[in-house]
Amino acid sequence: MTAPRPELDVAIIGGGPAGATLGALLAMDGRRVAVLERDIHPRDHVGESLTPSNNAIFSRIGFLPKMEQAGFVHKEGVGWTAPRSPVWKFLAIRTSDFPAPGAVQTYSYNVERDEFDLLLLRHAHELGAKVVQGATVKRVLFEGERAIGVRVELSGGWEEDVSARVVVDASGRRCFLANQLGIRRKDPDFNQFSIFSWFRGVKPHPPGYEGFVFFHFLGLERAWGWHIPIKNGVCSMGVVTDKADFGKSGKTHDQFFESLVQRNRTFRAVMEDAVRIKPWWIEGDYSYQMDTIVGDGWLMIGDAFRFVDPIFSSGIDVATYSASYAFDAIVKSWSEGEEAAAFAEYERTVNDGVDIWYETTDQFYRLQQLFSRFSLDRRYKEDIARALQGNPYNPQNRDRARRVLKDMRDAYRDVMADPHNLLRPGALDVPAEARA
Ligand SMILES: Cc1cc2nc3c(=O)[nH]c(=O)nc-3n(C[C@H](O)[C@H](O)[C@H](O)COP(=O)(O)OP(=O)(O)OC[C@H]3O[C@@H](n4cnc5c(N)ncnc54)[C@H](O)[C@@H]3O)c2cc1C
Repeated sequence: MTAPRPELDVAIIGGGPAGATLGALLAMDGRRVAVLERDIHPRDHVGESLTPSNNAIFSRIGFLPKMEQAGFVHKEGVGWTAPRSPVWKFLAIRTSDFPAPGAVQTYSYNVERDEFDLLLLRHAHELGAKVVQGATVKRVLFEGERAIGVRVELSGGWEEDVSARVVVDASGRRCFLANQLGIRRKDPDFNQFSIFSWFRGVKPHPPGYEGFVFFHFLGLERAWGWHIPIKNGVCSMGVVTDKADFGKSGKTHDQFFESLVQRNRTFRAVMEDAVRIKPWWIEGDYSYQMDTIVGDGWLMIGDAFRFVDPIFSSGIDVATYSASYAFDAIVKSWSEGEEAAAFAEYERTVNDGVDIWYETTDQFYRLQQLFSRFSLDRRYKEDIARALQGNPYNPQNRDRARRVLKDMRDAYRDVMADPHNLLRPGALDVPAEARA
């Protein structure tokens, strides 16, 4: 007697950008796929600035026209300001000046996540994925080592077991399966905390830079503010800092946010008449990785497999590309019958790509001035612009990024070896005795 055929080809836990993208790809391929989403969309979410590389995936699933119709703000580049620079003296990289080969368009988008996530999830549904909202996965079911389905709680509290050939965890930073298996490792170096909200009345960007995402540095290690224009004159404004800074401060959320805004002249000036229009949103403890991200009958995608500090807006890029590589791996495992090999290749590809994001972030935090120097240098400008565009899984992008990262590492070593180098952290600080 043969075992009954599983009800689904793929059960996906979570209907954020990762789960919805994979659902769309599998549905387009005629597979029986369900996206099980705990919340009812639209729901708020952090992460509003997209890399241009996402466009290639949106185009692959036929979603790009819907992005355009939604009227999201076009993002042509990124800029950053230093704490003590005069108001609106900034550095910027117009990423649209260096489109990746074959790029479908030069700009990307700043998105309201409630709207964007809903549109993408509905798109997966329209392509034929079974989308069930208000469906909380309580457990991934295993037979021996192999994942064979999920136990779901539906909105009335009823539980149901659903069998699937493959289970994919796309539960975001809840890391549902990694927690069930006890394989999530917190990053020892990045223990960030962030607080953000939406504001009206933020002063506009300088002409020619509308839609740019600005980062305002705060003169504290690993701390920065984000400034993302979204639709209808609203801006998403947030700050990221070491978690201990908030704990030590003894301040309320309002006071803490305000104290950080005051550290940067441009940030302070643009926020002068700003009015908050949403409750504060807090995020903490958010960098981690897993011991492994694939197994017998299961894979993890998006934030559920790894998360690095968001300074380069890498999150949705990781979500959509890991979904796309997971789709390739799943289909290959069925066509070639070599699941372990196909899933191992998936793991290597996505981890190699996210390693690039991680190292770029690490180099940036080591010495922001050096990173700025590289961004201005004609020899590296295009490499850095291309790195910020995303898709570090593409071998050409990966090699380019590795080259510039190596040169940055060498330059960092030289700077730190020279006690008189003015790029060293604190080199330009006035000694206390000279200030007296
Ligand atoms: C401070 C901060 C700033 C950021 N800024 C950016 C940015 O500017 N640009 C960018 O690209 N990224 C940014 N990110 C990252 C971005 O938020 C995420 O990378 C992105 O949302 C990941 O998508 P996902 O689909 O993997 O997870 P999510 O978007 O979190 O979706 C996961 C879904 O799974 C559902 N779920 C969870 N558990 C279950 C369960 N048991 N059963 C069923 N459903 C479940 C959740 O309800 C959710 O809808 C930022 C992150 C932080 C913390």
